[in-house]
Amino acid sequence: MRNFVVVGAGQAGLQLGIGLLDAGHAVTVVSNRTPDQLRTGKVMSSQCMFGNALSRERALGLNFWDTECPPVEGISFTTPGPDGQKAISWASRLDVPAQSVDQRVKMPRWMAEFERRGGAIVYEDAGIDDLERYTKSADLVIVAAGKGEIAQMFPRDAERSQYDRPQRALALTYVTGMTPRPDHSAVTFNLIPGVGEYFAFPALTTTGPCEIMVMEGLPGGPMDCWGDITTPEEHLARARWVVESFLPWEAERCQNLTLTDDNGVLAGRFPPTVRHPIGVLPSGAKVLGLADVVVLNDPITGQGSNNASRCATSYLTSILDHGDRPFDAAFMQSTFERYWDYAQYVAGWTNALLAPPPPHVLEVLGAAGADPRIARRFVNGFDDPRDFYHWFMDPDSANAYLAASRDAALSVVV
Ligand SMILES: Cc1cc2nc3c(=O)[nH]c(=O)nc-3n(C[C@H](O)[C@H](O)[C@H](O)COP(=O)(O)OP(=O)(O)OC[C@H]3O[C@@H](n4cnc5c(N)ncnc54)[C@H](O)[C@@H]3O)c2cc1C
Repeated sequence: MRNFVVVGAGQAGLQLGIGLLDAGHAVTVVSNRTPDQLRTGKVMSSQCMFGNALSRERALGLNFWDTECPPVEGISFTTPGPDGQKAISWASRLDVPAQSVDQRVKMPRWMAEFERRGGAIVYEDAGIDDLERYTKSADLVIVAAGKGEIAQMFPRDAERSQYDRPQRALALTYVTGMTPRPDHSAVTFNLIPGVGEYFAFPALTTTGPCEIMVMEGLPGGPMDCWGDITTPEEHLARARWVVESFLPWEAERCQNLTLTDDNGVLAGRFPPTVRHPIGVLPSGAKVLGLADVVVLNDPITGQGSNNASRCATSYLTSILDHGDRPFDAAFMQSTFERYWDYAQYVAGWTNALLAPPPPHVLEVLGAAGADPRIARRFVNGFDDPRDFYHWFMDPDSANAYLAASRDAALSVVV
């Protein structure tokens, strides 16, 4: 049995902690918030998780909301033309439905489960001195503190970080009363040129089923409009103003919205950042960064919780493969690189979607409206974005794919 300390009781820290407990190790999770503080605090994310991430949770017996949580059955895509009316608009089903369980519901439940399986939770806001203390007794200290300040002890990796400032002004609004879309539930992905992106999808929150409105405003643009908001009611009114001004087809669904609760709102921004995975303490002791601490993406592609899950599973495999050997710097670096083998594609694709869409992307998204196979491939790429590198990310592969799709469609007609 080896001894681990994991700082941060979020998606990655708890999933890894529970995986280590199940493998017979001793694990302490350090959390700067109690379950009650998490449950009654502000929303933190829209946390839409796709099939692969959900199956990793299921494998650990952590899928407590399969019957309660409304499924996200597909993804729709809409972009308007210069007249403000829909120019491209289509929807496709996910092969495996996604789910969004409010982290205010999920993390307190997982903390209870972690303790039930023999884990210890310490409540403190871990600083450098605390990390020093943990390294004295633990075989390995892992920092899974998300966007917490402590993450800054891990140096930014300038080569792997494409941006050095926030690319979107983010806002979340958790509501009830949204009219369901026809056919099937979906993440409605709307791209408004010069304004930003808007997503809405069903979720489970502290008060039951709800819809989450996610706004990604271009900095300085009209959807970057949250700075003067002082109350939850003002936040909801501003969210309604955004849909009424730029998304009339979504506004139709938003006639009877009510906030789920006063803490169902959030606004903020951060730069997408890749960090070096090894944090060196003043004593020279080393700690390993996990998930958002080391690869922080903009939420535009809804990948952060999926990545956190992926990173937790990848680190668990590396730790268990390592046997009784010391968790030295070489182990830490190779553990991160194993995860980066996957995460680099997610970061590259996410960063590409933050830039204005190049012609080949608009062509693919337009073609998806006419060919359901293209729509299906795009939609299911959210579950494993590496696929986009075969047909979406550069003009040559996109053109080759579109030509092959046209040929295949013709041969069906002939
Ligand atoms: C607006 C928005 C929308 C999003 N939408 C999606 C989406 O639809 N799909 C998706 O997959 N991802 C989404 N994400 C991203 C996703 O929420 C994160 O990537 C994911 O939660 C990261 O998990 P984590 O475990 O690394 O960190 P976190 O979930 O942030 O957990 C870190 C924990 O560590 C604690 N902590 C911090 N510092 C300390 C400290 N010093 N000591 C002790 N504890 C500490 C924090 O309180 C927190 O509980 C979104 C994010 C945002 C901001």
